[in-house]
Amino acid sequence: MLLSKAKQIVCISKTGERFKFANPDLCVLENSSVAINEQGVIVDIGDIDEKYQNYKIIDCRGRCVLPGLIDAHTHPCYAGDRSGEFKMKLEGATYMEIHNKGGGIMYTSRCVNQASQEELEQILESGIKRAIRNGTTTMEAKSGFGLSTEGEVKQLLTIEAVSKRSPIEIVQTYLGAHALPPGLSEKQAEQDVIQNQIPQIKKLMDENKIHPEFVDVFCEKGIYEIETTKNILQEGAKIGLIPSFHGEELNHLESAKLGADLGAIAISHLEHLSQEGIKAMAEKKVVGVILPTTQFILKLQPPPVREMIDSGVPTALATDYCPNAYCMSLPFTMSLACLNLKMRPNEALCAVTLNAAAALNRHKTIGSIEVGKQGDFVILDAPTWEHLIYQIADSPIWKVIKKGNIVYEYL
Ligand SMILES: [Zn+2]
Repeated sequence: MLLSKAKQIVCISKTGERFKFANPDLCVLENSSVAINEQGVIVDIGDIDEKYQNYKIIDCRGRCVLPGLIDAHTHPCYAGDRSGEFKMKLEGATYMEIHNKGGGIMYTSRCVNQASQEELEQILESGIKRAIRNGTTTMEAKSGFGLSTEGEVKQLLTIEAVSKRSPIEIVQTYLGAHALPPGLSEKQAEQDVIQNQIPQIKKLMDENKIHPEFVDVFCEKGIYEIETTKNILQEGAKIGLIPSFHGEELNHLESAKLGADLGAIAISHLEHLSQEGIKAMAEKKVVGVILPTTQFILKLQPPPVREMIDSGVPTALATDYCPNAYCMSLPFTMSLACLNLKMRPNEALCAVTLNAAAALNRHKTIGSIEVGKQGDFVILDAPTWEHLIYQIADSPIWKVIKKGNIVYEYL
């Protein structure tokens, strides 16, 4: 495939960097082409059309070619309808008030445990389909609504089954410690995760039945606090899972420091991140995954994104797609980050490409348009790439390409 004579090709990087930081150069080429071989790998970039006349030509004149977008934090494997909670939130109910009334995660958990794997697969697939038409070519997917060994295993088997037939790549995360199961204390819940869930996850990994890569914990006051979070992440690491967890969302607990000490690859949310936390994350290059839709919907205090970026914390953006933040659009997430969180558009683009790839340990294969990387692209029917963010809530996405295959096109 040859993406021919694009008005702009936004390469993001030319030298195989792992991250981009403040106000980055996006390495934009004008009137250039990209060639992708049959294995779906980028083989050439530039003024190359004469060399590739036997390739399938996609005419990109007047259009912009960007790397495929990467959503590094989602909870797309759920069941049940929580539209009623939207009204409660508009009337002023907080996340914890809804949670304490048996709504939120507790409601979703009951629905997930009642649903069959087939029902879960259908919901997951429909979410992925909608993410693809918004430009997503790689999506992380967490378990976390099971709150029991059986429920967590059902979710991971669902994600595994769907990922095998999905047109885009789905990256699995085990989130056994998402909320306290009804009737269990924090300590009892920790014991259930460590003694029952993790050994079962390991067994299924050994049998090649599931392929989680990350261990996640909802580190929050009154739920899983610092000590239990640490124990669970370390136990997950023992079976080969990389720590990547929720922290500093509703309260400040020094979870950023914990993540830096433990060698976490990423920490998500960070609304209550402290100066020390910023310093620790910058030093250890822990990716800060910002979730602007959740902050917007729950009216949380804004995370210190400007300070993070200016201090050298590699920063990614993700949708947090779930029944709370019902949004699978990374372009809309980028618009929110620019409008509400003082991110520059070039920083927002790196946050859903290269930095998001780093958060998922995939910076060597995706996240930029460079020779040797996978041919994952979003093509915009617009004269400059900024239209992806500027045209709010309905970006001019013309085609989405995964490994050289068209997975969405606007007709
Ligand atoms: Zn989340």
